[in-house]
Amino acid sequence: MTIALYPGSFDPATMGHLDIAVRAAAIFEKVVVGVYDAPAKNVLFSTDERVELFSRSLEGVPNVEVLSFSGLTVDYAKSINAKVLVRGLRAISDFELEMQMALLNRKMSPGLEVVCFMTSIEYSFLSSSIVKEIASLGGCISGMVPNNVAQALEEKYRKLKDTASIPRYLTS
Ligand code: ADP
Repeated sequence: MTIALYPGSFDPATMGHLDIAVRAAAIFEKVVVGVYDAPAKNVLFSTDERVELFSRSLEGVPNVEVLSFSGLTVDYAKSINAKVLVRGLRAISDFELEMQMALLNRKMSPGLEVVCFMTSIEYSFLSSSIVKEIASLGGCISGMVPNNVAQALEEKYRKLKDTASIPRYLTS
């Protein structure tokens, strides 16, 4: 059985991520979506929230499992016996970083192949950060993220706004 690992921050999962996971699941017998526990970037959602949001969006796709991991991606891949790393490519700008990571990962783990899926054209402009920016400004993000993620983003920014409007002397 070929197990593929699709690692990422998924903060939160977008339709672009979902599309790659579903397409990978059509090719590989099992796909593990690996949610980085502590990515280098600041995250809006906790690890558990990011896992839960992506899992819910993938309900009905039986051969995909969403799990969190920490440490090196290659070590995690080895621990779950994954032979393939799945990544997504949107534009030339993604390519340089993905190429660098793929070569570094191959150096560390020669048997692990990296398979890059080209984005679907309708999601080529999507990133978690752009979706968060739009949602934080109250813009409509429908069609950019799964419905459960859109709801979670609205709630998150509503809570953040409520907290910001409480005078500091009441919260500290
Ligand atoms: P990372 O922090 O590892 O870049 P991301 O969650 O941003 O994690 O993305 C995970 C993977 O999904 C990366 O390979 C990224 O290029 C890819 N990806 C992100 N958005 C899209 C999209 N709209 N279409 C295709 N691939 C995407």
